Amino acid sequence: MTPTRRASLLERKLLTTVLRTVHDFSLIAPGDRVLCGLSGGKDSYGMIWLLREVQRRAGIPFEIIAVNLDQGHPGFEQHVISDWCDAHGIRHHMVQRDTFRIVQEKVPAGQTPCSLCSRLRRGILYDVAVELGCAKIALGHHRDDALETLLMNLLHQGRLQAMPPRFRSDDGRNVVIRPLVQCDEADLAALALERAFPILPCDLCGALPNSERQRVKRLIAEWSAADPRVRDSMGAALANVRVTHLHDKRLLELAGGEAASDGTVP
Ligand code: SF4
Repeated sequence: MTPTRRASLLERKLLTTVLRTVHDFSLIAPGDRVLCGLSGGKDSYGMIWLLREVQRRAGIPFEIIAVNLDQGHPGFEQHVISDWCDAHGIRHHMVQRDTFRIVQEKVPAGQTPCSLCSRLRRGILYDVAVELGCAKIALGHHRDDALETLLMNLLHQGRLQAMPPRFRSDDGRNVVIRPLVQCDEADLAALALERAFPILPCDLCGALPNSERQRVKRLIAEWSAADPRVRDSMGAALANVRVTHLHDKRLLELAGGEAASDGTVP
């Protein structure tokens, strides 16, 4: 990326959304050193690409360190990622841990390995962030990930829960941020094409295409084909919660116990 490069319309749209998310949820503070998970997928490349623009435009001085984890999948070409970082002057740190073997041993045949694989990856990133002195860990989840998680929790876990823009890790050591959480996956896919990111597929392990997430993704796609406003409406709902019209007694108490008929709290 050179300083004279012109941002496309698509890139400006994505950047506007990222800047709003960074601002609204105080994702980055001056002086932060941010570990950016760079898996080799389109979303993580897009996140780093856009965060570099945030560095330039938001007037917040912060550091980016891209971290890639080679999990031991056969044929994984980590050098593709480090070459891309070198070409764009992005500081990076490459890590090798054989979680592939652990996942193969622990996950019964026919079950989706992604959940355990992601948990192991997350734990390693948390440790590396502490080693590198990073105050924040940025992950490339986008709005479609959040909407799919919302539906999966609603339909199968008995919980109203999506993905937060920022949270503290369970062990309390790290703050995790999601700068893309209000960006459309389709826009990130288009950016990846436009900027020719060297994508490494995340299906080397033969993850099942018929996972719950894939089924929910197809549902949302079907609804969106019937009404293109569905994703925007679901995304808006995440920022427009009428807690008194739900049935969680803990929240009702916090809200004062009484609700107006439109869901507003007196
Ligand atoms: S597709 Fe493979 S590498 Fe990607 S999260 Fe699932 S198990 Fe892990």
